[in-house]
Amino acid sequence: MQKLTPQQAREHNLKLVLRTIYNSARISRADIARLTNLTRATVSDVVEELMNKGFVREVGLGPSTGGKPPTLLEFVEDARYLVGVDLAEDEFRGALIDLRGGIKRKYNTRVKQASGSEALNRVYELLDVLVKDADRPILGIGIGVPGLMDADRGMVLKAVSLDWQNLPLRDLLQERYNVSVYVANDCQVAALSEYTFGKCEKTESLVLIKIGRGVGAGVVINGSLYHGDSSGAGEIGHVVVDENGERCGCGKRGCLETFVSCRAMIRKVERRVKNEEVDMKYIFTAFSAGDERVKRIVLDAAHHLGLMIAHIIAILNIQEIVLAGGITELGEGFLKLVEKVVREHALDALAKVTRIRFASLGEDMVMMGAAAFLMKKELGLP
Ligand SMILES: [Zn+2]
Repeated sequence: MQKLTPQQAREHNLKLVLRTIYNSARISRADIARLTNLTRATVSDVVEELMNKGFVREVGLGPSTGGKPPTLLEFVEDARYLVGVDLAEDEFRGALIDLRGGIKRKYNTRVKQASGSEALNRVYELLDVLVKDADRPILGIGIGVPGLMDADRGMVLKAVSLDWQNLPLRDLLQERYNVSVYVANDCQVAALSEYTFGKCEKTESLVLIKIGRGVGAGVVINGSLYHGDSSGAGEIGHVVVDENGERCGCGKRGCLETFVSCRAMIRKVERRVKNEEVDMKYIFTAFSAGDERVKRIVLDAAHHLGLMIAHIIAILNIQEIVLAGGITELGEGFLKLVEKVVREHALDALAKVTRIRFASLGEDMVMMGAAAFLMKKELGLP
C-alpha cells in the first residue's frame, strides 16, 4: 500500500473520527481513541477541528471510572443540510435533508412531459427554491436521474424520459450553485437510501429492485454503492426474457420491463377490462378477488421477476433483496408468488438464506438516496 501524504492522513483521520461519533449516541475522546486506534493527542486535534466546523459538540460529563469524569461528544445532525433530488417520476421532487435523513423542507414541481432544456430549467427552478430556503449551510447537491450515467464525471449519458444525452449535469449545477454536486442513477441511489436510512438489519449488502414506470436495480456491496465498470450495474429492465414478447420502448422485444413495470401491467389490464380506470390498486383488488382477467398478467410478472432474482442471487449471493416502487401496491401476496418462483429456480442453499421484502422507505427514497450518496462521498458517512 502507498504511504499516505500528511494531508491524506489528516483527511482519513477526520472521516474516521467523524464516523465513530456519528455511529455512537454519545462518546468520550478516550473511547474514540480506543475504537479507532488513534493516539489521544490526534483524537483531541481532530475533535477540535470537527467542533470548529460545527459537526460535533460537547454535551456534558460521562460517568467517572475513578478519575475525572470524561466530557462526552455528540454528532450535530443539522450541522449541514443535504439537497436531495429525484428526477425519476412525473414530478421532480427535492428536499433539504439533515445528516440523519430527517426531511426539513420538500418541494415538488410537476413536469408534464418536460424534456431537454425545459426539463433542465425545471431542475434549476426546484434547486433555486431549496437553496434559498436553507437556514443551514449546504453540504452539496445529490441528484437521482433515471438513465445511464457516468457517475465519475457527473454526466447523464442517456435519460430517455428527459430527452437528455451527454449532459454535463454536475458541472452545470456546480457552476450555478457553487457547491459539490453528485449525480447518479435513480435505482442505484434508491438502494443506498434503503441501506443508509431504511430498516436494514445489520446487513452490509443488498440489492434493491425498483419497479415503477421502468425497472432497474441498485447494488450495495459492503456498504458501498457498486456502479459497475461503466456505471450501468443493475440495468436489468431491458434484458430480453421472452423473444416473442411485446415490443419495448428500447426497440427490442420482450424485455423484463414489458412484463413487470407498472406501466406495462396497467396497459395490459386496460386492454382486457375496457372503460375502467386502471392503476396498481385496481390490479391488487382484482387479483385478490380472483379476477381471471388480471391473474395471468400478475403471475407472468411474478414469474419473470422471480427468475431475474434467482440469477442475481446466484451471481452475487446477496441475501437481502428489496422491492420498491409502485409494484409494492400488489401487497404481500405478490411477494409470496415471487418467493415461490425464486425457490423453484435457484440453488436451494442460496434461496433458503435469501430474504425478499418490500422497501421500508416510500416515495422519498430516491431523493434521500441521492443525499446519502453525497454524504458518503463528502464525509464518508455512515
Ligand atoms: Zn427494452
